[in-house]
Amino acid sequence: MTNIIQMEAVVEAAVEKKAPLIVQTSVSPSKFIGRHVLVAVYRVLAQQYPIPIALHLDHCNDVEYCKQCADAGYTNIMIDASKLPFEENVRQTKEVCAYVHAFSQASVEGELGKVVGVEDHIVISEDESVLCDPAQAVEFVARTGVDLLAPAIGTAHGIYKKEPKVEVDRLARINELLNGKGPRVPLVVHGGTGLPEHLVKALIAAGGSKFNVSTELKHTLIDAAFNYMEKNRAEYEPGKVDKAVKAATKQTIGYWIDMLGCAGKAG
Ligand SMILES: [Zn+2]
Repeated sequence: MTNIIQMEAVVEAAVEKKAPLIVQTSVSPSKFIGRHVLVAVYRVLAQQYPIPIALHLDHCNDVEYCKQCADAGYTNIMIDASKLPFEENVRQTKEVCAYVHAFSQASVEGELGKVVGVEDHIVISEDESVLCDPAQAVEFVARTGVDLLAPAIGTAHGIYKKEPKVEVDRLARINELLNGKGPRVPLVVHGGTGLPEHLVKALIAAGGSKFNVSTELKHTLIDAAFNYMEKNRAEYEPGKVDKAVKAATKQTIGYWIDMLGCAGKAG
């Protein structure tokens, strides 16, 4: 989410569907709104409703900011050092894990391989993309102590111009190596926006257990606000714009909750 109305909307959608929820914030909105403000709003909402809700910091490439967000009360921290050489990725991810596990209740997500597209300020072009090596994933998890792993498998951030070449078998192999004896390291699929339903279902079957959807919510916010204001140009009622954004956001999230099979899982 990029603002408080969106946060309320995704929470309300999950409450109505009785689904567990992870609210994700990228680094930019986290810094713009302020991590303490976000955590305060998150806690009020999480305490108010009878579903489990987590607060996730997405794609942070700054070790110190990862630590500050854990201190502030985020419950999942993603250190993304995936654009760096493997050994440096291991070193930074391990440092974040050691700090976060010692000083907070939060979990840590790491990324291996490069997810193409735009990850906040981290821009990766398609030819630079490197998919996650399954054997290296096992080494990465063992050496860093990450709780969740986002392996690059061909999904991308932003809007897909054509159906992406997603390597479902690669995810299945990583899952087999890491989680063969029951769930140990939940696998995260980034670039959820625009993935067709059959691919989402195949990725779930292959071990995908957390799907990140960001671009779709940004588009929903801008389109809903623009459409409302275009139709009601003479009206100066910000609350009504917010209501339109909230209704549209709830619809988008409801679609994802249903597609991911999360409805009813929180009761
Ligand atoms: Zn991502």
